[in-house]
Order: sequence, then structure tokens, then C-alpha cells
Amino acid sequence: MSVELYDVVIIGGGPAGLATAYLCHKHGLSYLVLESGKAVFQGIANTYPQGKLVYPSKPKDAPEPFLIEELRPPDKPVTVESYLQYIQHFVQHENLNIRTEVAFEDIRDERDGLVVVTDKGLFKGRKVVLAFGSSIPRELSVYGDAKMVAKNVEDPSKFVGLKTLVIGGGNTAADVVIAILKAKREMHDTQPVYWAHKSEKFDVNKETAQRLGEEILLGGNIRLLPGATPRIGEVDNEGVDRLVIRINEFKQADNIDLYHALSFPMQNVIACIGSQGPVPIFDKLGIQTISCTAGVCKVAKEGDRLVLLTADFETTRKGVYVMGGAISPSYMKICEGAIQEEKHPNLIYTAINDAYHVVQGIRQKLGKA
Ligand SMILES: Cc1cc2nc3c(=O)[nH]c(=O)nc-3n(C[C@H](O)[C@H](O)[C@H](O)COP(=O)(O)OP(=O)(O)OC[C@H]3O[C@@H](n4cnc5c(N)ncnc54)[C@H](O)[C@@H]3O)c2cc1C
Repeated sequence: MSVELYDVVIIGGGPAGLATAYLCHKHGLSYLVLESGKAVFQGIANTYPQGKLVYPSKPKDAPEPFLIEELRPPDKPVTVESYLQYIQHFVQHENLNIRTEVAFEDIRDERDGLVVVTDKGLFKGRKVVLAFGSSIPRELSVYGDAKMVAKNVEDPSKFVGLKTLVIGGGNTAADVVIAILKAKREMHDTQPVYWAHKSEKFDVNKETAQRLGEEILLGGNIRLLPGATPRIGEVDNEGVDRLVIRINEFKQADNIDLYHALSFPMQNVIACIGSQGPVPIFDKLGIQTISCTAGVCKVAKEGDRLVLLTADFETTRKGVYVMGGAISPSYMKICEGAIQEEKHPNLIYTAINDAYHVVQGIRQKLGKA
């Protein structure tokens, strides 16, 4: 089956990705946004506290105004809920080409373009813009494949009737456990939620602990698995992807280990094991980064790895661009034959203005300027 070739495939539907899409749309480039969340601006919806005001912040020393007025947060700050509502209307009004609930995984080179590998299949672009922000959920490291394991829960009722496993020891994992317990309670489902953490101690704040306690007292069926380690991702005889998690291990004198393990269908598992910066993804994609040494970098710390970019945000992998929160708080800019650290505050302003420069660069390269 042939795959449609877009001028630009954009990964992430936050301010950076959406601004890129809007400019492609305005300048007649074919494009597609792939967003892993349920809707555009999912990153913001997930991280801003309820009712937070959104500021049109601009660094004092930044020479440019907001280059896309349509996406600029209003001067009189509005709540995140109103800003998100405005963005939804904007996307509908402009009829932007966006596919949600598609998670980016990899890029392959082909003769006529770049193939973007996702959990929902392949997409193809002449150029690929990485606008996935700064907070990338960590992957479970197990022997075998654990790609089917979810990293957050948008609809807890999906787990009603299922024995569910939540992995992770912090507030995010606890929130997921609470949401699923509540959905099960409301639907009179008595199947348990297993909550596993590799350490012996769970670590949640008081407010979260209170909400969890309340849910348990109201009848929530929870099984705690402290000291449990996810080990293997495998496919069983019926073709079901399963995750095997060891719940305890006994070292024997004869050097033969004895352990107990549980095996869950991966679609019943949610791993909330924190987030990481995008460097591991850059490594996987073969995008060059440079390690900072003392005295050279002003923003980054010694040992931090900064991505190497041209003035229009192209990486060392030809045709692949990266922008917005994914390159904050600084990156290495190639400029007139020299390389220097460039400050890049993580703001809606920088995300939007990056898009302007990226699309200018792409239009020139594709001969569509
Ligand atoms: C609490 C908080 C308050 C803030 N307040 C302000 C403010 O008032 N004013 C301001 O200017 N800035 C503010 N910021 C910063 C601002 O939100 C960021 O600079 C901006 O969101 C960066 O935009 P982005 O598009 O690069 O990344 P994001 O907004 O993170 O968007 C990235 C998108 O990519 C998606 N994605 C991630 N991985 C994948 C994948 N594998 N496949 C497909 N899609 C993927 C995510 O779901 C997300 O929707 C705040 C940040 C925080 C955390």
C-alpha cells in the first residue's frame, strides 16, 4: 500500500507544532500533525494546573515580536481553560490537518522522503519537524517489547472489568490508580487495581495520599506490589502481548533464584515512571548533540548534551528539524562556520517564533518560498 507523501510531517500538536502547521497551511505546503494526546495542546492540558493564567511572556532581550499573532496568548492573561478553548476553535476554523492519538516512534530514510514510524502506522514527509516538547514519558526497560503499555490514562472507564496494573511510585501513578479505582467503584466493578513500584516505598504527597485513602475506604480494591520489577514483554500462545512483572525474588544458596511473577495483558498496564528530556530520542534518531564543557556554555551545565542545529533549526540528520520546548533551555547553533550555545527559554513565544523560521527554511529548500 502506498503512503501519502506530505511536504512536512509535524510531530506534536503543542504551540510549536500547531504554529508550524498553520504556516504550512497558509503557504500552501502539504502537512500533517501527529499528536499523541487526545487533542492538540495536550502537553499544556497535562501540565498546567487548573485555572492557571497563560502569559504572553517574551524574553527581555528577544529582538522579534510574536511572529504569529493568531496564536499569541492575550495581553490580559486568560485561564488555561479559555486559551485551550480558543485553540480548539482556531484549529476547527482553519481546518488544520491533525491526527490525534498517534505516537511518534522513529524515522527511516527512503529515496523520496522520510518515513515516520508511529504506533498507528507509517507516514511520509519530505521534511519532518519534531515539536514534541521537553517532557517525554520514560519507556519501560524490559527484555522484549513493551510498546503496548500505556503511559497515561485519558479514559479510566476503559479499565472497568479488567485487572489493571499501574507501575510507578509517585503522584502521577497514584492519580491514575485513584481515577481507575473511582471508575470501577462507580460501575460496581470489584476487579482489583495492582499498584507496583520497584522500590519498597511509594512516594506521594499528603493531598494525593488523602484522596487515595478516601477511594480505598469507599471500597476501592487495590493490591500494592512494592519492590516489584517489570522484566519481560512477550507474546503468549493466543497472540496477546503480555508484561511479566516479578513481585519478589529469593536468592538460594545453590545459586538458583526462586521468584514469583505476575503476567498482565499489556493493554491492562499503565506505566507512570516519569519523564525525561529528548536526548535519548535524538540518540535513537542519530541526531548529533554536543556535550557542554565548563566555561563554554552559559545556560547549560557541564556534561549537558545540547542538540546541534542550523539557523533554521535543521538537525544534523538531513530534513529533520527540531524546535520549541524540545530544544530548551539552550541548543548549539551553527552560525557562519562557528558553533555557539544559543539561549532558548521554554515559552510559547519561542515555540511559535521557531515555527516561523523553520517554515521559512523549509519553503526555501522545497523551492516554495
Ligand atoms: C506549568 C507551566 C506553566 C507555563 N506557563 C507559561 C506561560 O504562562 N506562558 C508561556 O509563554 N509559557 C508557559 N509555559 C511554557 C510553555 O507551555 C512551553 O514553552 C510550550 O508549551 C512549549 O511548546 P511545544 O509545542 O514546544 O511543546 P508542548 O507544549 O510540550 O507540546 C508538545 C506536544 O507534543 C506531543 N507529543 C509528545 N510526544 C509525542 C510523540 N511521541 N508523538 C506525538 N506527539 C507527541 C505532546 O502531547 C504535546 O501536545 C509553562 C509551562 C508549564 C509547565
